[in-house]
Amino acid sequence: MFSKILIANRGEIALRVIRACRELGIPTVAVHSTADADAMHVRMADESICIGPATVARSYLNVPAIISACEITGAEAIHPGYGFLSENARFVQVLEDHGITFIGPRAEHIRIMGDKITARNTMKTLGVPCVPGSDGGVPTLEEACKVSDDLGYPVIVKATAGGGGHGMKLALTRDDLEEAFSTARSESKVAFGNDEIYIEKYLDKPRHIEIQVFGDGHGKAVHLGERDCSLQRRHQKVFEEAPSPVIDAETRARIGQLCADAVADIQYAGAGTIEFLCQDGAFHFMEMNTRLQVEHPVTEAIFGVDLVKQQIRIAAGEGMELRQENLSLKGHAIEVRINAEKLPDFLPCPGTVHTFHAPGGLGVRMDSALYAGYSIPPYYDSLIAKLTVVGTDRPAALARLRRALGELVVDGVDTTTPLFHALLDQEVVQKGDYHIHWLEHWLETRDAGAA
Ligand code: ADP
Repeated sequence: MFSKILIANRGEIALRVIRACRELGIPTVAVHSTADADAMHVRMADESICIGPATVARSYLNVPAIISACEITGAEAIHPGYGFLSENARFVQVLEDHGITFIGPRAEHIRIMGDKITARNTMKTLGVPCVPGSDGGVPTLEEACKVSDDLGYPVIVKATAGGGGHGMKLALTRDDLEEAFSTARSESKVAFGNDEIYIEKYLDKPRHIEIQVFGDGHGKAVHLGERDCSLQRRHQKVFEEAPSPVIDAETRARIGQLCADAVADIQYAGAGTIEFLCQDGAFHFMEMNTRLQVEHPVTEAIFGVDLVKQQIRIAAGEGMELRQENLSLKGHAIEVRINAEKLPDFLPCPGTVHTFHAPGGLGVRMDSALYAGYSIPPYYDSLIAKLTVVGTDRPAALARLRRALGELVVDGVDTTTPLFHALLDQEVVQKGDYHIHWLEHWLETRDAGAA
């Protein structure tokens, strides 16, 4: 096992990793920007080291500074969390050159899945069904028209290097295509330094269903069922649950096995998530994330597995503890992402938190780096807490979520908590009867009604 792990991240996910390390008896090193000197992850780790100024490019993405931090502290391995350097193949390569272990998959797999066209082609070869779309990149408008006419409108123009909901443009009709095509290309060029795009059929009422997989790196893999992340705003998840209200045990076993077989085939190591759009009973592969997901706690809650400890075990070469026959789910879990944002416009709202009270009690988990007196810096993501509840079934989980949200106190900054109170009152949410476009539409009509 590793003698020391450095966590190349901040906020709640850094705490999440520190907690797993502590239970494994592994000392931890926190890295931080100057803006994060007082952050909770710095206080909670065994050691901490400043790696640069507030700007992420000069701190949390500063590879030489992170490597120096490893060398100074003697950390043998790095857990990247999510975001930042977690899906950066070059970073993994550099770590390898320095004899530092990356807690995650091999660079080769990050590279394949990080390019969406290559990921689609790889999955197709592995027998995983994809969203109908172009065969590879679409370099010209002429070709875009041809592909889209064949697929039928609407279509979605996507950047192969896209991520986080960026680099995607919708074309409802052929008239929209020229603009969608050129904006997706230019935006992607600016944001990702790559203007290659491809085209997919736009699905009008799909659910977002993702399968959690885990590979041992030597041809064995398991799945831990699905998460349903269909409540989204601007292609970003806000409310996630497991199991999905619309997936039965037989479907779960079938699609889960298909995904486990696919990652086993490529000898994938560690945690991964295969994302699908699911409409009319059919699964369509969208992308694979080669890291721990923000919403991993819902899976942990119903399977009783600590995914971070499993990642560390695999990276340390201790083999995979998980066996498919021992993995069974129990109950229903829901996570909500609480952001420091002002409603109704979701404007980031950094500032000082005067009072903080986290909900507790049976079946309640709070992942948050907040504390009373903490000043949320303006430089980073606005996620301040993930509240996860688990109940015997979906109605019990919903009732627990309502109860737990009622206990949460964050004074001093605006948060998205009222959104969840309002959502819990909606019959559509109570029934679990929505698709990925529902929330956006509901917010628009609600705001129009309020205005
Ligand atoms: P990113 O990597 O930026 O997260 P994804 O390809 O995972 O991009 O898509 C993010 C979200 O965009 C999906 O969860 C879904 O809401 C929407 N989306 C993506 N592809 C389609 C599609 N073909 N039809 C309808 N919605 C889509």
